[in-house]
Amino acid sequence: MLNPLPEHLFETLFNHLSEPRIVVKADPPYFTIVACNEQYRLVSNTLGKDITGKSIKELHNSDPANIEGDLIIQDALNRAIATRKPVELAAVRYDIPGADGFKNEQSWWQAEYIPIPGKDGKVEYLMCTTYNITDQINNREAIDRAQQQLRLAVESAKMGTWDVNPTDYKLSLSDRSKELIGLPLIEEISIEEILKSIDPAYHQPVREAITNGVEHHRSCDLDYLTTNLITKEQKWIRITGKMFFDDSGKPAHYSGLMMDITERKLDDLRKNDFIAIVSHELKTPLTTLKAYVQMLIARATKTEDAFTTVGLEKVNQQVKKMTAMINGFLNIARLEASKIHLDKKIFDLEKLIQETVNEIGLITSGYNIDFVPYEPLMVHADLEKIAQVINNLLSNAIKYSLKGKTIIINCIIADGFAQVSIKDEGIGVNSHDLEKLFERYYRVENQSTRTISGFGIGLYFCAEIIKRHEGRIWAESEIGKGSTFYFTLPLLPIL
Ligand code: ADP
Repeated sequence: MLNPLPEHLFETLFNHLSEPRIVVKADPPYFTIVACNEQYRLVSNTLGKDITGKSIKELHNSDPANIEGDLIIQDALNRAIATRKPVELAAVRYDIPGADGFKNEQSWWQAEYIPIPGKDGKVEYLMCTTYNITDQINNREAIDRAQQQLRLAVESAKMGTWDVNPTDYKLSLSDRSKELIGLPLIEEISIEEILKSIDPAYHQPVREAITNGVEHHRSCDLDYLTTNLITKEQKWIRITGKMFFDDSGKPAHYSGLMMDITERKLDDLRKNDFIAIVSHELKTPLTTLKAYVQMLIARATKTEDAFTTVGLEKVNQQVKKMTAMINGFLNIARLEASKIHLDKKIFDLEKLIQETVNEIGLITSGYNIDFVPYEPLMVHADLEKIAQVINNLLSNAIKYSLKGKTIIINCIIADGFAQVSIKDEGIGVNSHDLEKLFERYYRVENQSTRTISGFGIGLYFCAEIIKRHEGRIWAESEIGKGSTFYFTLPLLPIL
């Protein structure tokens, strides 16, 4: 049999344990402390105090808040003695003095009591390991509180929630979401079931949003038209969603909110209809005006009437500006009504940029537009709409820069995409506005932009068109120094 450890050796070993530990005698109800290591003194705020020989009850339990905790600890120790098996406590409240050393602070502990039998097999001592888990509990409580507040906010805004399990695509919906769609509250719901309520024109975008979300972890924000399966009422629904990951970084839930946006959507649709009708009606007289002006320019040039030619050229420029403005509005109305169709064909993006630069160069002077085509870069896209995107970005670079400044256009291949960048030395945009530039009707309001006219629809159009081509659009900018607008387009696959 081994000799018992000399006392000083035991003390050194015990004191250097990283776990906070005490050893108590199995003498209920006192549980006299026979050994206590430094870690324990540290976590129990008893540094410098001699606590051996005291009952564990004497440590801090003068506080009435500790009566319940003390009973739980006594019960655990007694169970360890009776069963001769370790007993664990997941979380027990037992308050100890705070940093000031006087007032007790709410404290939570995780503990393990290991019985140590004597020679006769009866439990003689108990080794207690106690971890202070107050911060964890407080954090968990703070998270619970935040979740409760969020739930309350979601409920009072009459929003529903939804959740797709990324492993088996199982779907769960809150009662409010089911109510919006008109589904029975008790049953499990499949995606197919939900599609029955969605207007067929939106089946594809909804399916794509979920697949893109689950497989590529993309966030979604989608409006679609539904018919309530019970009331048969038509409603516009908006869903937003994103992927949430577990602690190990694995996708855990694809979930988000569902809300009824019928009123706002119908308002928008009415506004769009109005804009579409007015723009359409303005187009006819403008076309006639343009034809007459061009005829008159031709005649004035023939008669070498320089004054009339210059005047008419000015009228022509203004007519062009108005036409561009009206086309902008028509485009937005079409986008909103999902009436924009992409007419894709294969073309050279470098060539298109060059043509747009030449065209803009004809009507604006005083800027150095720097673009050197490199070699043909073939893409499969809607040429006219991409031309409008380049035109909008280049016009903005000019519009928001002073005369004499340089605009650099680049077209490269990056990460398997064609990437176009348009860099200016203009007024720049601050980071707060930068996030919103691509929203419909968004304009930056400050001293520098006050005198520059516009409707805030150009970048929105660009973003929608690029999104529909599965590309990306973004901007980088520094106030006073300039901005760079980027967009990407998928390259033509090599066959
Ligand atoms: P508009 O120019 O008609 O207002 P846009 O949608 O084209 O509409 O642009 C939205 C806003 O973004 C503009 O009002 C302007 O404040 C800002 N912006 C766009 N391009 C630039 C740029 N190159 N430099 C600085 N600000 C810009």
